[in-house]
Amino acid sequence: MTRRLEIIRSEHTGYCFGVKRAMRLIDEGLEAGGGEICTIGDVIHNPQAVERLRNRGLVPVRSLDEVGEDGVLVIRAHGVDPALVEEAGRRGIGLIDTTCPFVLRSQNYVRRLHEEGVPVIIIGDARHPEVQGIAGRAGEDAVILDDESAAADVGPYERAGVVIQTTFAREKAMAITEALRERVRDLRVYDTICQATVLRREATKRLAGKVDLMLVVGGRSSSNTKRLYRMCVDLGVPTEFIETADEIDPSWFAGRRIVGLATGTSTPDWIIEEVLDRLSRLSGE
Ligand code: SF4
Repeated sequence: MTRRLEIIRSEHTGYCFGVKRAMRLIDEGLEAGGGEICTIGDVIHNPQAVERLRNRGLVPVRSLDEVGEDGVLVIRAHGVDPALVEEAGRRGIGLIDTTCPFVLRSQNYVRRLHEEGVPVIIIGDARHPEVQGIAGRAGEDAVILDDESAAADVGPYERAGVVIQTTFAREKAMAITEALRERVRDLRVYDTICQATVLRREATKRLAGKVDLMLVVGGRSSSNTKRLYRMCVDLGVPTEFIETADEIDPSWFAGRRIVGLATGTSTPDWIIEEVLDRLSRLSGE
């Protein structure tokens, strides 16, 4: 490719506050040495970043049974079910708790609602670890939904409290909340959507309106990255989703001049630098 590409990076890229904090805490644990540092599931939804941590000594395990003597368990930024933390405590397993303070806030709202005997409704994806961890604070009783149509089956309740998955799309959450008002007389809504993802979506939307092609960079299992990608596609902008610079296909840039770059909240800076470097080489700079 001989013609120059203009690359515009979104105003909000790279790790969000919570992921940055989690990675710093894990780093400190690995540096400190001592017992094996283990995780159940990936610490963040980015396979390349996870691989780097494994190479530095982080050990993936399937359950507490696999955590060795003196082992330390990392609680992921999404948080976990409190039953797991209690069991780790009973077994004398140390913890590095990287639960994002914003997720912790949702967990605390749910715990308080449950203690007050108020039914808990969570707007979010029931399969997402954050939602499962939050639901664990409500015993067996939380109602989880991610669609307005499901609201018709809720209650009816005299009163109930709502929390929202931190990365859930605001417009959809508000539509579900409105539908829930038909089923709950006194509905207490805690807006627990994380501002980091809202700002990122807004910045990506602004950028998508100015470019010939959007590149969305992040883990394929990262829900906020997938949502950014879908948003760009829905805006009618030609968009490609990549995890690494190697996946870039030079033919994408034929007849295009301005390329926008957006990333999920778990995309490390070193991957972004590699992508920018490859784009710069492709454009002949
Ligand atoms: S997206 Fe928000 S809630 Fe999730 S880890 Fe990042 S800062 Fe925390």
